[in-house]
Parts: sequence; structure tokens; C-alpha cells
Amino acid sequence: MAQSELLLEVKNLKMYFPIRRGMFKRVVNHVKAVDGVNFTVRRGETLGLVGESGCGKTTTGRCVVRAYIPTDGMILYHEDENLTQDLRKRRVHIRHTAPGDRGQVIDFAKLRPDELRSYRREIQMIFQDPFSSLNPRMTVLDIVAEPLVIQTGKSPGTLKDEVADLLHKVGLRPEHMNRYPNAFSGGQRQRIGIARALALRPGLIVCDEPVSALDVSVQAQVVNLLQDLQAELGLTYLFIAHDLSVVEHISDRVAVMYLGKIVEIAEARELYQNPKHPYTEALLAAVPSMDPDKRSEKLILSGDVPDPSSPPPGCAFHTRCLYAKDICRQEVPEWREDQQTGHGVACHFADELTLTGVKSHH
Ligand code: SF4
Repeated sequence: MAQSELLLEVKNLKMYFPIRRGMFKRVVNHVKAVDGVNFTVRRGETLGLVGESGCGKTTTGRCVVRAYIPTDGMILYHEDENLTQDLRKRRVHIRHTAPGDRGQVIDFAKLRPDELRSYRREIQMIFQDPFSSLNPRMTVLDIVAEPLVIQTGKSPGTLKDEVADLLHKVGLRPEHMNRYPNAFSGGQRQRIGIARALALRPGLIVCDEPVSALDVSVQAQVVNLLQDLQAELGLTYLFIAHDLSVVEHISDRVAVMYLGKIVEIAEARELYQNPKHPYTEALLAAVPSMDPDKRSEKLILSGDVPDPSSPPPGCAFHTRCLYAKDICRQEVPEWREDQQTGHGVACHFADELTLTGVKSHH
């Protein structure tokens, strides 16, 4: 269930990667992988972040876990007011905080590496490919215990009870801890990755396409597990996916990204039933519909995502948009947001177009 308390605020996040050429590796351009992204995540909710590959969603997730140092912007994390005093004391004093209503607000974008160490546990990541994200030479015990070993200095052998408990939470058995990753199926490996992410009891988990490398038959099991864990442990997810069908069941709200920017954000049911951005409409047309007669063939997205190092002027979606007019090629559409519903969109014609949604299963 979504609650209103803020956990994460991402403000004007930018991540530019330099393109270098020539003998002196001069910077000739930048890929603006993330270019002014804003969103919030409330404690206990799941925000789906959706878009085709190359839209910047994974880069956004990596900035949030600080695998990248963002070029600009803020990643404000609202610390849990119930944090143990012990943990509070162990934390270094940092400068990049702002007083929050309850606890401290930390800007992850500006943490130095030494400061980051004591906050790493707050935000964990589950990776897309469970085959390459687990070290094949480590046992499950070592893999799951590793974050605890780093945090507490204890040896894996002394953490067997904790690891058995984590394995139990994700539907694996204690005897699994002595095996190596290659003894497990893709779905089981993803469970190991989830157990590891849970080890430090994070406040937020960034799930980077956690089921897209798995067989369709296993995907629902892993999504269900993530939902059960959320209910049991009060977790908050930023759930990244490349299509709208995967995030439909798990998301409270959904943000749609295109070429480094969020183009629409809304409560999940509202977004599916009443999309306001043509790109969202096109993505929805690809979602298997309950009512096949209602699907519109013309809406299948054509063409590739443009090169993010030279995005089209005006509205970046105009090269693929069915509704584009002259103004779309010249002016960047402003972000408008309904203050009541929180439904936000960046399209010149958001109020005029009548777009087709899908029946939500919510
Ligand atoms: Fe399409 Fe124009 Fe809206 Fe962009 S601003 S999504 S090109 S109608």
C-alpha cells in the first residue's frame, strides 16, 4: 500500500557521458543519458520506471544507488526516523544533509566515497541478469553474507543463521548455502540476488529489470516474491522495466521515460486507463490486452529510439509521434501536472488528444 511519507526525491537529475575523439581524446559531445529527471518515491510504494532500451532508466537507477556520480541534480533520501541509535552513531558526520520533518535528509548525489560507505545499506540493487551478477566461485553463503561481512567485519561462517533466515525469506532452503550459483536455475539465482539485497535491510531496493532475463513461467513467481517481501518487510521499490506489462501488477505509480526525460507519470491505474502522452499510448498498445478487438494496429511503435547524443529538437518524440505538429519540432513541451491526482505529462497536446488506454488489471 502506498503511504504518503516521502522516502526518495530525485530532482533535476542529469547524467552526461562524454564522447571523446582523436589523439588527445578531446570531449566532442555528450550523451545525455539522463537529462533533468524528477520523481519521488513514497515509503512502502513501488514506482515503475519504464521505457525502451537507451531511454536512461537503468542509468537513473544506477545514479540512485550511486554506481555513477551524477553530473548534476539531487537524490534526496529521507532517513528512517526509527533508525537504531547504534547505526546513527556509526555514521560519519556529513555535510550534505537537510533537516527533514522527522529524520535526516541525505543527498546521495553529493556523498563522498567515505561518506557513502555508511549509507550504502539504505539503497540496494537487484540486477537484470542473475547469471552474470553472482560470482560463480563463491558459495551462496559467501554471496548472501558478503554485504554483512563488509558492514560488520564478521566472517561468513558466523553469519549462517542470518543467511539461513534470508534464504528462507526468498523461498530457498538452508542447505542451499553451501552450493555454488551454477547449481541453480535462473529463478533461483534471482532469489539468491534478492536475499543478498535484503541482507542489510535496505529502505529502498532498485530492481533493474529483475525478471526480463528469466523464462516467462518464472517471471510471475519472482514478481510475486518481491510483492510478498514488500508486504512483509515494508520495502520500497524503484522497479525498472522495458515494457508496461511487467510493472502493471507491482507498481503503485508508473513513470515513463523517453530519451533521458520522464514524459509521463501517474498512478498505475490512471496511466493504463487514461494515458496522456502519445509514447505511453504506444507502449500500452504493446501490452497484451484483455480485449483484443480494442487494440489498434496503427499504434505499434515504428522506428528506433533516436541517438541520445543528438536528440531531435523540440519534443524528442516527434520523429515517431502520430500526432506531431509543427510546434513539436520546435518547442520542448513543458511539464504539466495535475496537483490533485499527481498525473504529470510533457506533451503540447496532452489536454486535446484523446488517447487509447488499456483495461487495467489493478
Ligand atoms: Fe507528440 Fe507533439 Fe506531444 Fe511530442 S509534443 S508527444 S510530438 S504531440
